[in-house]
This record gives sequence, C-alpha cells and structure tokens, in this order.
Amino acid sequence: MITIYVKDINHISQKLYDDVIAMVNIRKLTCTCGNCRCFIQHGSYNRTVKTSNGAVRLRINRVKCTICGCTHALLLSSIIPYSQISLKDQMDIINCYENQSGYDRIFESVFSIDESNVHSVILRYCRYWKPHILSHGISVFSIELLLKYCFSIFQKQFIQIKSTSNRLFMFPT
Ligand SMILES: [Zn+2]
Repeated sequence: MITIYVKDINHISQKLYDDVIAMVNIRKLTCTCGNCRCFIQHGSYNRTVKTSNGAVRLRINRVKCTICGCTHALLLSSIIPYSQISLKDQMDIINCYENQSGYDRIFESVFSIDESNVHSVILRYCRYWKPHILSHGISVFSIELLLKYCFSIFQKQFIQIKSTSNRLFMFPT
C-alpha cells in the first residue's frame, strides 16, 4: 500500500480523499519493488472509518505495478491500514493514556469507539511502538516526524497492525 501524507488528520471524507488523490500523479509514486513510473489505475474497494460524524464509508483507489504485478491501495496518512479507528483518534487515545486523563472525551466524541477499541490501541502502542519511539527520541506528538520515522524504519504507518509494506508519499513542498 501507499500512504499519501496529509497535514489535516482531523477530517476524513470521500470528498477530501478524492481531492487529495486527484493531486497525486501516480507516475511519481514508487512501488515497494523500488520501481517508479510503473503504476496504472486498478479499481477500488470500500472501507469504513469511524469518525465523530459517524462511520464514513470510503471508496479507496488501487494502483497496480506493471513491473512486479503488485496492487497497492492509496491511503491517506489520516487512515491506519486494517483499522476503522482514524490516526487522529488513535493519537487522542495515546495522548489520554500518556496524560492519564481517562478516555471519556474519546467516548463522547466518537460514539462507535468502545473500551475494547481503546484497550487494543494502548496494547499495540505499549508493546510495539512506544519502546521503538522512545529509543529513537521521537515525540509521539510530533506527527510529521513520527510518520516519517515509522515509514522509513518499519515501512509501516504508525500503529499499523499487519506487516504489509507501506510507502509514504509526500507532496513536494
Ligand atoms: Zn512493483
């Protein structure tokens, strides 16, 4: 999969997704096989993300590498692969955990997040991500640095569950 970096992690909608994807020149993307200028559009699939406005159903575009044959979903960095809980909400959960402030704020803002969701985010964070982040002196609250670090060291989005290789694409500034 390929993750397109977006600064705004607070909003997720089909329109926002489509607007970002429309700005991506797929010829500029690099495949996990290392080749670039090798992608063609390859359909789409639907997935759901829980937000404060309820569950948002997104149509996610896929591209296919004409050299290695791999297909890649094009995600936004506000989305965590294989999870219905957005990056923003997972960051909020981790923030509440680190500040020991309780999770009521989370439950009140996103009704579909429950205690078992919170528990699994904290477990994943403590068991896997926190030790790596601390050992490299990365602040969990500096999102741009954190994501660059996770993608460059682990080829994964922060808090990503499965080990499917994931590349970060950043628009040139
Ligand atoms: Zn490839």
